[in-house]
Amino acid sequence: MEAVNQTLLREILEQIAHEMSAAPDRGTVATYIPELAKVDPAQFGIAVSLPDGTTLTAGDAATPFSVQSISKVFMLAIALGRLGDQLWHRVGREPSGLAFNSILQLEREKGIPRNPFVNAGAIAVTDAVLAGHQPRDVLGELLRFVRMAAEDDDIHINKAVAASEQATAHRNIALAEFMAAEGNLRNAVALTIGTYVHQCAVEMSCAQLARAGRFLTNAPGAPRLVSAARVRRINALMMMCGHYDGSGEFAYRAGLPGKSGVGGGILAIAPGRASIAVWSPGLNERGNSKLGSAAIEMLVRKTGWSVFG
Ligand code: GLU
Repeated sequence: MEAVNQTLLREILEQIAHEMSAAPDRGTVATYIPELAKVDPAQFGIAVSLPDGTTLTAGDAATPFSVQSISKVFMLAIALGRLGDQLWHRVGREPSGLAFNSILQLEREKGIPRNPFVNAGAIAVTDAVLAGHQPRDVLGELLRFVRMAAEDDDIHINKAVAASEQATAHRNIALAEFMAAEGNLRNAVALTIGTYVHQCAVEMSCAQLARAGRFLTNAPGAPRLVSAARVRRINALMMMCGHYDGSGEFAYRAGLPGKSGVGGGILAIAPGRASIAVWSPGLNERGNSKLGSAAIEMLVRKTGWSVFG
């Protein structure tokens, strides 16, 4: 395959955005968080950030969107920094094969969630970071981390989205209550869920998110926010668990570690090469961006960036 220079990459991104703008079937926007139901499904953005921060974009790549579960990757990096391997007493590292908000598995596995990216696991991670701190300090740390990763201070939490999720968080509260019953929650449920819904309400554009993901490429020149060994492990978890019960399909099609969010965003990492962000609000039946998944598959086909060669 021809080496991917910036001119070619720009052409590829334009082609993808053009194709996606005309896609008739765009999936379904998440409605269980009422604020997200208002987002126009006609939008599509894509950005590729190279380790030095050079960022190529196409489509609606400057429009901020709710990163939702993509925030779990950044919170995991913070949690591992704070607790190290102790974190793994509270959450596993296996793919779930079940929906992102499943209660079933949690009961079977006695309150230890399968992995840090299903909702229960992410709630346990947030709870671990929160222990001994105030929600505002943890959210401040998350924003500092993301802003440093993106080298951009214009990244914020959308309070309306957080309030909207908080008002309809019955299932996440149930997961937290269940973990509390099993002794796997250190803070009051309301405190942990309050922090979690604000973390999910961080907004970024594709360009900002792609830049924020560069530390996960382990490439020379990218910001070094966590150790190289830890980056490898976070990528392994993204590959195995980043798309819930659609993780196998994403790995098969894209061949890259990735993390999706119900806001329609996906962060994917081409190790040593680039950080990729796509956004299209319509979701497939597994809760992952329909056009976003297709766009990353197309990008990998045209660049040869699959980790499997
Ligand atoms: N805030 C969302 C929830 O807890 C995140 C889910 C997702 O983005 O997949 O339901």
